[in-house]
Amino acid sequence: MAEGLTIGLDIGGTKMAFVLADRQGNTLDSRTEPTQSGDSFNDTVYRISRTLNAYIADYAPIAGIGVGVPGPVDSERGIALLAANLGWKDAPLRAALRKRLARAIPVYVENDVNAAAIGEGRYGVAKNVDNYVFLMVGTGIGGAVLLNGGLLRGATHSEMEIGHISLDPVNGRLCGCGRRGCLEMTVSGKGIVAHAQEHLPDYQNTSMSADSISTHELISAARRDDPLARHVMAEAGRALGLACAWCVNLFNPGLIVLGGGLIRACYPLLESETLSALRARSLPLNSQAVSLKLSALGDGALGAASLVWYHQDEERQS
Ligand SMILES: [Zn+2]
Repeated sequence: MAEGLTIGLDIGGTKMAFVLADRQGNTLDSRTEPTQSGDSFNDTVYRISRTLNAYIADYAPIAGIGVGVPGPVDSERGIALLAANLGWKDAPLRAALRKRLARAIPVYVENDVNAAAIGEGRYGVAKNVDNYVFLMVGTGIGGAVLLNGGLLRGATHSEMEIGHISLDPVNGRLCGCGRRGCLEMTVSGKGIVAHAQEHLPDYQNTSMSADSISTHELISAARRDDPLARHVMAEAGRALGLACAWCVNLFNPGLIVLGGGLIRACYPLLESETLSALRARSLPLNSQAVSLKLSALGDGALGAASLVWYHQDEERQS
């Protein structure tokens, strides 16, 4: 039974989530540690390897370790190409971890959205679905595509940057990427906050003020029917539906999985706008084939653990 165990680690901007799971995705142990943003790459690797080695001592042998990292990842070489939140550039995560592990165990490093998407296919709502899209709506918005069970991969490991497709490149809100009107500036945590700030002067009857606007406050104000918050949520819902329509026309998926902190917190507030924009903006043959589901997995750790089986299956097939 022990060789069926994996360790998953999701490295986020504020916390690192670890899970020890069996092949079926049952969790035997989980823990989180803060990500210390001031830490160097070597310090972070040292802290991670300490926790991994504690698991390895208690549960060896382990079949593999999967790690999800924000930003583009060269998964073949195990290198995190650019994780701005962590201050990493071309960080050789797999090699650095393997050097510090108490035993020789395979390590698989992957972009965190890809990892979450694979996890949904193995343990979540995309089980037995061959073609699906995963959209992660949190602080920003990112995506992953599985076609015939395999991840869509781009030339520089930076595919599915759907958050930076522009809805209004001339008059839209300025995005962190330097361009205007990116999808992310309407449907994401930072997008809804920026949108509400911009439209605050137009809504005299709102209960919100410039310094009270936050993601959390916008969601609760929308539940109270605050007109500004309702407007921001409706626009976010329409933009999300449009993004789903692009995916539906491009990839013809059977399922779109919606994950990420923001969407889990507020999907009922935007669902009807999302669905009607999706139907209105995609081809009927494509939109009839697709359903939308909320992600079943919580933090990204179980998705990261599922990377072990995904990559080991891939290696067997090649
Ligand atoms: Zn952008």
